[in-house]
Amino acid sequence: LTSGLEAAWTKLKGEEVLTKENIVEPMRDIRRALLEADVSLPVVRRFVQAVSDQAVGVGLIRGVKPDQQLVKIVNDELVKLMGGEVSELVFSKSGPTVILLAGLQGVGKTTLCAKLANYLKKQGKSSMLIAGDVYRPAAIDQLVNLGEQVGVPVYTAGTEVKPSEIAKQGLEEAKKKKIDVVIMDTAGRLQIDKGMMDELKEVKKVLNPTEVLLVVDAMTGQEAAALVTTFNVEIGITGAILTKLDGDSRGGAALSVKEVSGKPIKLVGRGERMEDLEPFYPDRMAGRILGMGDVLSFVEKAQEVMRQEDAEELQKKIMSAKFDFNDFLKQTRAVARMGSMTRVIGMIPGMGKVTPAQVREAEKNLKLMEAMIEAMTPEEREKPELLAESPDRRRRIAKDSGKTEQQVSQLVAQLFQMRVRMKNLMGIMEGGSIPTLSN
Ligand code: GDP
Ligand code: MG
Repeated sequence: LTSGLEAAWTKLKGEEVLTKENIVEPMRDIRRALLEADVSLPVVRRFVQAVSDQAVGVGLIRGVKPDQQLVKIVNDELVKLMGGEVSELVFSKSGPTVILLAGLQGVGKTTLCAKLANYLKKQGKSSMLIAGDVYRPAAIDQLVNLGEQVGVPVYTAGTEVKPSEIAKQGLEEAKKKKIDVVIMDTAGRLQIDKGMMDELKEVKKVLNPTEVLLVVDAMTGQEAAALVTTFNVEIGITGAILTKLDGDSRGGAALSVKEVSGKPIKLVGRGERMEDLEPFYPDRMAGRILGMGDVLSFVEKAQEVMRQEDAEELQKKIMSAKFDFNDFLKQTRAVARMGSMTRVIGMIPGMGKVTPAQVREAEKNLKLMEAMIEAMTPEEREKPELLAESPDRRRRIAKDSGKTEQQVSQLVAQLFQMRVRMKNLMGIMEGGSIPTLSN
């Protein structure tokens, strides 16, 4: 996938900007690379569309070449495709949390039971494993051994008892022992078949699990999408675990899970050891797929610089007393965008430190102001004096924006107050009076 994508970036070398025309070829490469990585066709189609839409509309960032910019857009879309954020395991509020593991044979379910127990132990939670693979005596021994390794009890009832019955008994036992988390191992088949699904449905009915996690081998190719869909439709899953990510996987499975099922990948296994289990980070996975960490951090820095330049320009305007409604809107929007932009706000004189309460207030005010400022003519936005002088204009704006005349007057007054405050701050005193609005 990584090398396939490289062809895409190469095609943009020497271009000045991203255009509808010059992204055609690179997008074709991206499409091909994704298909070769076994991402299913509908997923690829939606992905390519989303990236194209963004690429064409994107603004120029000084110093960033179009190919680098496209890398960033593809990265961000990949992250989104995989669910964006980390998805935590859900725990039951009363009684034991029950985790049911399902999946084809050999994907790593039995290993995962113990890995999970080990993982939860570190969070201070006790677990019990239930041996539900009754088809191979070796499977029970395997789980018992793994349980010993991580120091967790394993409930077994031999191979003669139905899995759903074992599940029931195991759950009762866990309740008695006040265990926090019950993890049920199940039998897999080489292929999806009705017997396996029926058995899982029965076990699920008995356990009423908090989490039903589909275990998927990262090496699964094209079939991943169908596999996830089938398990989700038939049994209803709450998420997936991707195993064997330490191998030479092409990553297709990771890209399809969320898109086809709406359910996130929650954890990944990266080796055979008990410690090799960790949360699934969509951004890290995208980084791994693209293999271009340096380009990404470069583009992010450049974007940050651009925001900074925006802020500096704003600062200049403020200092020259030309602060108008366009700037006002910009500034208010900046405050509302707060979260990631603490630094920019810090650069605007007079803003000082912004508290969360102020940010919420700014967000509320923003909608109000936007409506009114949008109802202004471009001339009025640049020359707020026009509004200070003319009640007719203020009345018109109130009417067009659906606000009251008083609200418009307040906004105008606020702008002049802001100008004065800025000027005072800069030590420029002349011309700093607040005009009284004529009636
Ligand atoms: P099950 O049939 O789904 O229960 O799969 P198992 O838990 O028995 O695992 C099958 C094989 O895959 C075993 O040899 C495991 O050691 C191996 N395995 C499981 N998880 C991982 C992993 O994350 N990475 C690697 N490299 N091997 C794994
Ligand atoms: Mg097994």
